[in-house]
Amino acid sequence: MDSMNFYILLLIAVIAGWLMGRFGSAAKVKTKPNGRDIFQDYFVGLNYLLNDEPDEAIDTFIKALEINSDTVETHLALGALLRRRGKVDKAINVHQALLARPSLERAFSDSVRLQLALNYIAAGLLDRAERLLNEVLNEESDARWEALQYLITIYQTEKEWSKARSSCIKLLESPRYKKDAEIRASAAHFCCEIAEQLLETNQDSQAKAELKRAFTFERKNIRALLLLAKIEQRQGNFQGAIKELLRIRSANPGFITQVLEPLNQCYQQLGSNDEFEKLLREIVRENTNTNAVLLLAKIIKDKAGSAVAIAFLSEHLDQYPTLDGLVELLSLQIHNVESEVAASLESLLNLIHEQVSKNSEYRCHHCGFETKSLFWMCPSCKKWDKIRPISKTAGGESSLARK
Ligand SMILES: [Zn+2]
Repeated sequence: MDSMNFYILLLIAVIAGWLMGRFGSAAKVKTKPNGRDIFQDYFVGLNYLLNDEPDEAIDTFIKALEINSDTVETHLALGALLRRRGKVDKAINVHQALLARPSLERAFSDSVRLQLALNYIAAGLLDRAERLLNEVLNEESDARWEALQYLITIYQTEKEWSKARSSCIKLLESPRYKKDAEIRASAAHFCCEIAEQLLETNQDSQAKAELKRAFTFERKNIRALLLLAKIEQRQGNFQGAIKELLRIRSANPGFITQVLEPLNQCYQQLGSNDEFEKLLREIVRENTNTNAVLLLAKIIKDKAGSAVAIAFLSEHLDQYPTLDGLVELLSLQIHNVESEVAASLESLLNLIHEQVSKNSEYRCHHCGFETKSLFWMCPSCKKWDKIRPISKTAGGESSLARK
């Protein structure tokens, strides 16, 4: 029995309990207006369930249960169950029927509208969902916090970043969500999205203002720091760019790979290659980042020759073996072996290189989605900041990559 069946059976138990209660206290509900015994419906539904036809079972229970103040919650739950089973149209019908009841209590009216909005979102009817949620929002009941969360989902899907941020700001007014790290991170990313749009049209100073705003939600937002460094770099302020990039290094060493190239460019512009080498040595000492090791090996090779670079790499790989590092080491050593062996070795290296280049570079820590490029929002589970670099050192993920 899968978990869904178990869930349905549990639900049946609840309904059965309710029916028994009603039966015990008021015999008049035993028979529905059309004269059919409600127990008959109950057993028909149960039969469907035992025959592994849960959708028919749900339908039967919905039809069997008259809507009244005692059964509203059951109808709500059955509608939600239909949505989760992908029967969005049926779920919409169930919840719309509830909403159409004139005497629906206020607390239920909010729940029904929230459920209906979720159905609309599932059906891709985002405009309708938005209208309904704004209705709940304007009534200022406790349901507005939940409505705001769904609104954020909608605006995020529609890339309406400014509206998404406004909804976050409203949600952060709630004492319950005030310190919610995920909502604060979302708000920071919405600022970054707006900043990126401004950068496309060269509105650098407005973009900078948006990034400053991002830091009010999350003090060390990596994406905002990277964007700020990018603006400084393109404006020729290389010292300023380096300052921001180094802040990323201390805020989250997992993102070292992302700062290496811009750092290299900025130090080159300043003519401070030695200073960059010093920094790289420091990074390699405290963090086993493979890209930093490979970059340093290349600098050593250009400056002091292959033999010194080979010695450096061998020593490092003894301690922290990685496939990328070994491939680089063998490529350097290939000139020292006989030509026949060198040819075979080169073919082998090409094969390994091809294999390595297929590997994912990033993984979502929430849903496990793997990708070759960095996404700030996971394309699979739509959560922000859950995608992080995969460590290439033997033994799996580096603790440094975690936030
Ligand atoms: Zn994910």
